[in-house]
Amino acid sequence: MERILNFIGGSFVPPASEEYIEDVSPATGKVITEIPDSDGRDVDLAARAADDTFRSQWRRTSAEERSELLLRLASLIESNAEELAMLESLDCGKPIALARRMDIPRAVQNFRFFATAILHVTNECHPMDSGALNYTLRHPVGVAGLISPWNLPLYLLSWKIAPAVAAGNCCVCKPSEMTPLTANRLAELVNEAGFPEGVINIVHGYGARCGEAITAHPKIPLISFTGGTATGAAVMRSAGPLFKRVSLELGGKNPNIVFADADLEQAVMTSIQSSFANQGEICLCGSNIFVERSAFDGFVERFVARSRSLRIGDPTDDTTEVGALISQAHLEKVSRAIALAKDEGGTIATGGNRPSGLSESLRGGYFLEPTVLLGLGRDCRTMSDEIFGPVVTITPFDDDREAIELANSSRYGLSATVWTSDLKRAHRVAAALDCGTVWVNTWLLRDLRVPFGGMKESGVGREGGIDSLNFFTEAKNVCIKL
Ligand code: NAP
Repeated sequence: MERILNFIGGSFVPPASEEYIEDVSPATGKVITEIPDSDGRDVDLAARAADDTFRSQWRRTSAEERSELLLRLASLIESNAEELAMLESLDCGKPIALARRMDIPRAVQNFRFFATAILHVTNECHPMDSGALNYTLRHPVGVAGLISPWNLPLYLLSWKIAPAVAAGNCCVCKPSEMTPLTANRLAELVNEAGFPEGVINIVHGYGARCGEAITAHPKIPLISFTGGTATGAAVMRSAGPLFKRVSLELGGKNPNIVFADADLEQAVMTSIQSSFANQGEICLCGSNIFVERSAFDGFVERFVARSRSLRIGDPTDDTTEVGALISQAHLEKVSRAIALAKDEGGTIATGGNRPSGLSESLRGGYFLEPTVLLGLGRDCRTMSDEIFGPVVTITPFDDDREAIELANSSRYGLSATVWTSDLKRAHRVAAALDCGTVWVNTWLLRDLRVPFGGMKESGVGREGGIDSLNFFTEAKNVCIKL
């Protein structure tokens, strides 16, 4: 595959360092291509291109013009969906069926949603009895720094680019250096859609060098970051002294609570998805499953049997259900977490090993069996640390109070899932959980209008719908004495 270049001011340009990073296929361990090892000089070039375009034209475009361009981009993604799904699967190790079903359609939806949302926003007005009128104007902020992780590359990048650009900002994006392929193809589609040069810029490279240059750049007043909690803290340290507006979507260790009155078959089938979809590399995966004691044995038996039957293999094969983890380093990290679970007294009900029977071409890939851990104490690290792999714990509980206590004991607060057929219990438990999203009898069902984000160490701020448009704009109150 041809070497990837940075996308700055509408052109594909090499990095100032002239150094490149290898992009490795998770399924084979082989190099796919090379990407720029960008540094502050490339970020500066991109920030200036974005700032020039913002000041000279983009901030004055009408909502209709921006909407039309974003809708054109959405249609281009849709008509290139199969190629994009293949690139995502190659780069990420994710099953192509999942990329076709989720990643690429959701990227299209993100662009369509914000392209049309900006045509329908209304501004607030506060009349005063004393004879004055306040109204709120919302202006784009300027250049947005958008930093995204490797697990849902195009999906999460589009979740940031779409509202930022729809609201009238230009942007400098940094995808994860492990998954640059769809961002690079997106850049080509941005030109094809006819965006003015400099509205969307993409700089590739390592987080510590290229990402940090974005968070510290004085011409980038706004940062939207999705990634790990420790990196989120580094982003805050860098952006804080410059008083940047920051949105952080961070890690999670999400509880999946199954009450005995739930539809157990549905709970098992969906919990298999919420545990192992994308190899468990989704921030919203429910990695601690809590099951009411009277249903515990039945749930475990069915869940383990279904876990064993998942098809692991070549991510680009249509029938694969579990692909490869993102990297050798991540495979080692997840394997260490399984070893720790054993040290902490856990037992492995299934999984824990590299799958057998992989074809010769996949021998160098980073595969791991879906793994189910039982018998762990509630305060152990396995139950509290994010593993971000195909590994779940299953633990019994006795009543609602204990289930809520277990769920809320986490230092994270991203999402939770509750399985019950008792409507009153569903409302009561959902209200008591300390997290940004609660799903009842479902998982990963998304409405783009709702607020999305985490409590505690899972993040700062909310994105989605009007929250995204508010984040990407400055509010200004105008007060007129009548
Ligand atoms: P990560 O290591 O934190 O990286 C995220 C992005 O930040 C990457 O582009 C990374 O570049 C960059 N980065 C690293 N250090 C940086 C720095 N000092 N300054 C600025 N940028 C920097 O996370 P990841 O391993 O890619 O993704 C997995 C994590 O993301 C998990 O914890 C998961 O829960 C979380 N996540 C959260 C959500 C959510 O919506 N809450 C969604 C998806 C994922 P490099 O790739 O070069 O390091």
